[in-house]
Amino acid sequence: MLPPRSVLITGASRGLGLEFVKQFLQVPTPPEFLFATCRNPDNAKELQEVAKSSSSITIMKLDVSEMNTIEEAKKLVESKVGAGGLNLLINNAGINKKVTLETVTPDMMLDTFNINVNGPLFTTKAFLPLLLQAARSSTPSNPSSAIVNMSSIMSSIARTVTSDAVEYRVSKSALNMLTKILHNELKDKGIHVGCLHPGWVQTDMGTAKAPVTVSQSVCGCIQVMSNMNAENACVLTDYTGNPLPW
Ligand code: NDP
Repeated sequence: MLPPRSVLITGASRGLGLEFVKQFLQVPTPPEFLFATCRNPDNAKELQEVAKSSSSITIMKLDVSEMNTIEEAKKLVESKVGAGGLNLLINNAGINKKVTLETVTPDMMLDTFNINVNGPLFTTKAFLPLLLQAARSSTPSNPSSAIVNMSSIMSSIARTVTSDAVEYRVSKSALNMLTKILHNELKDKGIHVGCLHPGWVQTDMGTAKAPVTVSQSVCGCIQVMSNMNAENACVLTDYTGNPLPW
């Protein structure tokens, strides 16, 4: 479905989100509008530096756990993209407290669910009119808008053999279900909905021990997005394009 005219990324202050911003500037036809959203734009120093290199980047405040910031961001995006709508929403923001069955608390579960599941759900709901606007000019086999949820192999029930990161695993399994529900709802409206496992990546979340660099991961994720179609969209896919079991 690439190249998109407009892209919005949540959690663009660091890690994979920041790398998405950098690499979308490098694709052969970069987006005209690249909305790099984060919860504290003033603290996102590296993102601010990257934005100096391209007038297509708009840095906006968007905390996926605060509806008012989502609504404000939506108004700003709407005013910029006009009738073309929004082509690609990447629900990237996420947290991983890495707690065990022994240490998990109700508040940890709620907090993680709020950011990893409610975040993508209510961000998607807010931007849906703009995604539909972009899809209006498309056909089901050639949609011009997509929603990509950053999931994880740790969401996979089939692949889970340990009990670490209980809150994270449960939230990402729920995100997969949300992906399927959105896919069912939107597939005939010209919007692809998919979820990606970016690999185990060298970010604050993935730690320096991870085998995959942010550059390798995001390069692969963009490639997978560019090959998304009606058949393969709603499959948990890793950054190399391999389908994974739910
Ligand atoms: P990082 O921890 O490095 O970065 C997380 C990003 O999410 C930060 O930009 C952070 O913002 C943002 N964020 C956290 N809470 C909120 C919120 N309430 N509203 C908006 N933004 C928020 O994670 P990664 O870059 O590694 O992960 C990105 C995505 O990829 C996540 O969904 C993660 O689950 C997934 N993933 C990562 C893997 C890995 O190995 N790294 C493996 C599998 C999946 P701030 O700077 O303000 O804290």
